[in-house]
Amino acid sequence: MKPLIGITTAYDEKDGYYFLHRAHADAIIKAGGLPVLLPYSEARDRERLVEQLDGLYLTGGNDIDPHRFKEEPHPRLGKVEVLRDRFEFALVETFIAKKKPILGVCRGSQVINVALGGTMYQDLPSQKETALLQHRQTRPLQFPSHYVYIKEDSLLFNIVKERSLLVNSNHHQANWQVGEGLLASAKSEDGVIEAVEKEAEPFILGVQWHPEQLLREKDGASLRIYRYFVKQAIKGMT
Ligand code: MN
Repeated sequence: MKPLIGITTAYDEKDGYYFLHRAHADAIIKAGGLPVLLPYSEARDRERLVEQLDGLYLTGGNDIDPHRFKEEPHPRLGKVEVLRDRFEFALVETFIAKKKPILGVCRGSQVINVALGGTMYQDLPSQKETALLQHRQTRPLQFPSHYVYIKEDSLLFNIVKERSLLVNSNHHQANWQVGEGLLASAKSEDGVIEAVEKEAEPFILGVQWHPEQLLREKDGASLRIYRYFVKQAIKGMT
């Protein structure tokens, strides 16, 4: 039986659409999971929702409300989605309580970190003092643009079996201090955290890049990440 993977969506206020790039759903399908798109719902219903799902996949999107990590808004903070934050933070808490696996990409890796008490750069270029790489790449997202270096004794290393990966990059925010029990398992050359993880139950991995887009060009490491996540979701079904 295929595991049900809940995928978070973004909301377009102007036209009233929930939306998701199909690459996310395709990646879950390719890895053997059954994607279930999640519109925002009431906090009181989340227990019921999480009971039905075998894994949580947090996708990319707009900025996170800095009050989530006890900061006032920086002048270069982008668009914040309060309702999306409310829904996703509640989901993360409940998935962790029920020991079900979580994979986050881009904004999703920050939701994971902040939910566990970590902090963020609200705007990397104006808040990080050292010279930065280009983290908002100019080429299309299915093509990688910068390297990340992976800690050898990490879950991510065990999944991809590589010390470095060439990844894509489309973010102006990033994780700063990691949350409780999390390990920063990959960084770019400029020291920006590119992956956070927790190896103990449940499986939690957040990557700052977009593996779903790299998968469109048949990237092997991206497929291994999705397959591992789906495998963890299957493990929890018995
Ligand atoms: Mn990057």
